[in-house]
Amino acid sequence: MKIGVLGGGQLGRMLALAGYPLGLRFRFLDPAPEAPVMELAEHVVGRFDDLAVLERFPEGLDVVTYEFENVPVEAVQHLSRAVPVYPPVRALEVSQDRLLEKTLFARLGIPPAPFVAVDSRADLERAVAQIGLPAVLKTRRLGYDGKGQFLLRQTADVEAAWHRLGGVPLILEGFIAFDREVSQLAARSRNGDIVFYPLVQNHHREGILRITLAPAPDLSPGLVQTAQQAIRAVLEDLDYVGLLAIEFFVCGEQLIANEMAPRVHNSGHWSIEGARTSQFENHLRAILGWPLGPADALGHSAMINLIGTLPDPAALLAVPGAHVHFYGKEPRPGRKVGHVTVWTQSEQEAGELLARLRPLVGE
Ligand code: AMP
Repeated sequence: MKIGVLGGGQLGRMLALAGYPLGLRFRFLDPAPEAPVMELAEHVVGRFDDLAVLERFPEGLDVVTYEFENVPVEAVQHLSRAVPVYPPVRALEVSQDRLLEKTLFARLGIPPAPFVAVDSRADLERAVAQIGLPAVLKTRRLGYDGKGQFLLRQTADVEAAWHRLGGVPLILEGFIAFDREVSQLAARSRNGDIVFYPLVQNHHREGILRITLAPAPDLSPGLVQTAQQAIRAVLEDLDYVGLLAIEFFVCGEQLIANEMAPRVHNSGHWSIEGARTSQFENHLRAILGWPLGPADALGHSAMINLIGTLPDPAALLAVPGAHVHFYGKEPRPGRKVGHVTVWTQSEQEAGELLARLRPLVGE
């Protein structure tokens, strides 16, 4: 079986690495000649909106997927006339637009932060009056890792926020004073079977994920159940196939949905070593219509991202049980270039190993 993947970054690379033991082959499409997949799979260097490239890309492929949610919807629609594409295009459309995403959550009874669409300076004034401050102004589209966001603390910030972001469709969200951030990952197969990964806790800095603890410590059964019900509702509503991630803010016993990603997710990297079946393998099984693997954790995992610089691998590997992943990317400030996972049977020990890794990666 041969799988086409739109996007050839680290997520694509880890998909291929999960697929090779299953005898799968891959063809990637990515505009960057130096994409992280270049040394391990067929790599078509081309733009996602180049029709000539999209015509040829599906030849000989059994299924197409994507590892990057900003691929143009039109490209996916075009390819889906020649070959099945999963996750479905509707999931891509919704996750590309924060307004559609929050509207979907609200319709399914999954509470998002209060939100209002903002298309003009006057809209922004009205939205601030309606939602109150503090609030977060975000671009509706093409935001990731905290980019395209502005925190408004007081009325005087309205001008600066509009100056920075105005001119494209925006959304104003109420600021959520959360206790912590978690994410729920689940895979749904072509026949509707679903497996849930444990709810994990995420630590961001400057809008970028730094650390994931899997499972999240001190979870109540109620929180776990709420997260699973929420992701099931989204998976079923979208007739979703593949791996889906939803990020939530935790406020007491309440979950507030922040955003979803219709792809394998950074907060699931721990599952390569720390779960019975990794998110990458389950995504492939799902889109191929194969049985899903159990998604439960083998123990307690901690995953730490390598951002901006590549530490000495020998120093990382000196931490017992450390699994080191380098993505083959040139280090640049703010760029995810790798990650390290440790997992053990004890939550306390996982915390101690994480504490040893932190200074090595500059956290
Ligand atoms: P996002 O790009 O929406 O995932 O936002 C990046 C990070 O900014 C989140 O993980 C939160 O830490 C923070 N953030 C985003 N939206 C809000 C909000 N409405 N209230 C509080 N913090 C937020």
